[in-house]
Order: sequence, then structure tokens, then C-alpha cells
Amino acid sequence: MQGDLGTPAAPLRVAIIGSGPSGFYAAEHLQEQDGLEVQIDMYDRLPTPFGLVRGGVAPDHQKIKSVTRVYDKIAAHPEFRFYGNVEMGRDITHEDLSAYYHAIIYAVGARTDRRMGIPREYLPGSHSATEFVGWYNAHPDFRSLGFDLSSTGAAVVGNGNVAMDLARILASPPEALAATDIAEHALRALTGNGIREIHVLGRRGPAQAAFTNKELKELGELPGVDVVVDPAEVALDPLSEADVAARPNRTRDRNLELLREYAERPLTGAPKRIVLHFLVSPVEIVGTERVEALTIVHNELYESEDGSIRPRPTERQTTIPLGLVFRAIGYQGVPLPGIPFDAMRGVIPNEAGRIMDPRVGAPVQGEYVVGWIKRGPQGIIGTNKPDSQESVDSLLADLRGGHLNKHEVPAREVLERLLGERRRDFVSYEDWQLIDLLEQERGAASGAPRVKFSRVEEMLQALKERKRAAAEEAAREG
Ligand code: NAP
Repeated sequence: MQGDLGTPAAPLRVAIIGSGPSGFYAAEHLQEQDGLEVQIDMYDRLPTPFGLVRGGVAPDHQKIKSVTRVYDKIAAHPEFRFYGNVEMGRDITHEDLSAYYHAIIYAVGARTDRRMGIPREYLPGSHSATEFVGWYNAHPDFRSLGFDLSSTGAAVVGNGNVAMDLARILASPPEALAATDIAEHALRALTGNGIREIHVLGRRGPAQAAFTNKELKELGELPGVDVVVDPAEVALDPLSEADVAARPNRTRDRNLELLREYAERPLTGAPKRIVLHFLVSPVEIVGTERVEALTIVHNELYESEDGSIRPRPTERQTTIPLGLVFRAIGYQGVPLPGIPFDAMRGVIPNEAGRIMDPRVGAPVQGEYVVGWIKRGPQGIIGTNKPDSQESVDSLLADLRGGHLNKHEVPAREVLERLLGERRRDFVSYEDWQLIDLLEQERGAASGAPRVKFSRVEEMLQALKERKRAAAEEAAREG
């Protein structure tokens, strides 16, 4: 142990930057250590916690969102604090964090998206899934975006679960969406949208799709929607067939079964269609003022030198007339000021969660990383638990080995005074719980689980008013 660090005389002070699942699982693992006295301060640039659980998970997947109850328990620990509406780089610097904490854990996720790299990718009507998902989930960063959903045709590029979420939300009846916590502005825009046909484009075959069974099955359960799959496209090529035989995989096999069922299902003439295409890649967006069509090339599969099955283009191209393109081809991490960054992979370079300084090939003392900014944008919420535990175990080993920031750090009150000067309106966990309550009250009238605030000023104002009303009532009673 590093002196008496981690004992009641000198609690270990840890900052966690980001309040999504990976940040909370890191906090939980620290709290679970027998005999370790740890004070955890979790920061978020938004007044609201939970990262992609709030801003990414689809609004019609409320059960998945109930994982936040676990996070509430972690936050209820007496030595846990949440500082929302505090942005690293704007309100608190890397230098501050190094001065105030023995260890820092970055849990900032992957904030932007990958690019397709095709001509006219940025014409009006072509959007990233990151923007659309953030917009329909009331994320303040995307509040002011406008989506013209009047076109009859849309393409969703990608074959992951985000692509499935997008296709489903675009095809869902508005009355079903109204019973979710979808953003009010998104519900208004989606109600009466003109979209009749949604093309989901996978660059590889059905055996290589990244989506999972539940998400694929949900498409087939949407009322008023036909799912269209060309039987020729679910017939496996010899390479995929050999791979399927050699490598058992239940998710993939169930996907193939479901796709075969869709291919055999008679069409009902439903008002909307979701067409699942395989072995196609976008080549260019066609249009002048806005998206008018998307040209795709048909691919074939080959085995690359590393043994993976990859797509390569053939001569065959098709142009689909449509007015909307959503690229759902993966998220991408962005650098943080003062922290090493691997721009190729979009992650913070690390070994078992210890941030590595590429200039010297050694760990950066007392700095760790968890979640998507550590391993790249893959995995479900639960994947973050072992991932965060690994990083925290590295931190604990460094504590035992005497490798954390050695200097004495100021007490929490000193930090709070600094924050109060820099960011008077920082939001505590109790404040967030009031915002949470206010959102739920707003939803009660319409039967929605909540109506989210989509602007930071709006939530801060509502919070202020509720606190003032509570104080006035207390004064009257007292
Ligand atoms: P993902 O699962 O990695 O899928 C990305 C898809 O984009 C893949 O099909 C990939 O194809 C394709 N792609 C990549 N580059 C492309 C390009 N240049 N052109 C065409 N296609 C391209 O990523 P995601 O959908 O963003 O999801 C991220 C993570 O969140 C995943 O682990 C996902 O399971 C999880 N998630 C889960 C849920 C849920 O549980 N309901 C919901 C949303 C997200 P290749 O395979 O050929 O590379």
C-alpha cells in the first residue's frame, strides 16, 4: 500500500470522467474493495448521468434502461459525489484533476461517428446515426438538428444493432413511440413521416451481420411493416458456409434462421417495408441540393490474410431512389485535452486500462481508462462491467505498488469550492434525482415513462424553480 493511502486517515480520491455504464461499474468495483476507504467524484459535462443508457439506448427499450437502478445504488454510497454540468477542458482541466486526485479514470465513451468516405456524404438528407439517435433521445447536443422525414425512401447503412434501432424507430407507429421516452420534438417529426421503404445495407453477408437476435426479431413484429429479404441473399456463399460449419455461434445461427423465415414470409402489402440487403456497399450519394438516390455496389466475400471474411466490390452497381441516408457504421472516440490518443483506432492507448504514454512507452501515473474509449465502440452495457473491473484492478495494483499520484491532495471541500467558483450551477446527484422526478411528472399525463428535457438551460431552470418551491414550502412549515 502507498503509505496510509486508502485508509480513513487518507481516503483514496478518485475522479471518474463520464457517467455512463463503464464509469459506474468502475465506481462499483472500487466501492466493493474490503477495507479500502475511497472517495469517488464522478463528472459529466451534462447535468444528467448515464451516458448512452439515456442518450443512446432506443426509447422503446425501457427494460434495458432499468439498469440505472443499479447505478442509483452505486451513487447512494456515502462517499460518492456526482458533479454534472462540469466539462473537462472547460470547467476543470487535466492539471486540476492531477492536483486534486490520486487517480483519474476516463469513461468518456465514443462521441462521434465513422465516415463512409463517399461522394456527397454531407448533402442535406444524409446523416450520421449518432446525430439521429441523439436527436430522438433528447440529447442536448442534437436538440437543434432538423430532420426532413418527408421522403418516401430511406437507407440505413450498417448491419449492427444501431442500424436495427434506426430502422425500427423509423418504421414504428407513432402511437407506440408516444408510450416511450422519445424526445417530444422527435415524436412530432416522426408522426406522419413520409417514409414507406427503409433499406438496411450490410456490406458483408447474413452470416457476418453484427446485429443480435432480439433486434432482428423486433423488426418482424412491427405492426404495419413487411420485412423483405431476398431468398438469394440469405443463401450462404461457400466461404460463409464453411465458416458456419467450423465455428459454432448461436447468435449468428439464430439470425440466419430468422432471416430465412423473413425470406419465406408472404408480403402483406403493409404500408411500410424494411428491406434487408446483404453484400452491398454505398458508392456515392446522388443529388445536387439534397439526397436524391444512393448508388450501391454489390460485393463478394474473400478470405483475407488474417483469416477474416471481408467484402470486395464487383462490377455490379444499383441506384436506389431515396431521400434519406443514415450511416450507422460505428461510433468513434475523440481526444481529450492533455491525454494520449490513438487516432487510428479512436481510443486512448492503454494496457489493461493503464493509460500508456506512446512517447515513452510507459504508463501515465495514476491515469486509467474504461469503456468504449478504452476498447473501441463495441459490446453491450454488461460488457463494461468486466472491462471496468480490469482497469480498476490495475489501479488497485498500482496503489499497492506505490505508483499512484504520491502528493497529498486537498480535501473534497476544497475541490467543491473551486467548482463553485468555476461552475456555480454544477448539478449534484440529488439535483439529478429532482430533474428525473420532474421528467417523470411531465410524462405522467400522456402515459409516457418521462418527457425528457432536451436543453440544458431548460433542465437547470426547472431544477431551480423546484428547489425554490421546496425551500418556500419548508420555510412555511418551519
Ligand atoms: P457495430 O455493431 O460495430 O456495427 C457496425 C456495422 O457497420 C457493421 O455491420 C459493420 O460491418 C458496418 N460497417 C462498418 N464500416 C462500414 C462501411 N464503411 N460501410 C458499410 N458498413 C460498414 O456498431 P453499432 O451498430 O454502432 O453498435 C455499437 C455497439 O453497441 C455494438 O456492440 C452493439 O451491439 C451495441 N448496441 C447494442 C444495442 C442493443 O443491445 N439493443 C443497441 C445499439 C447498440 P462489418 O461487420 O463488415 O465491419
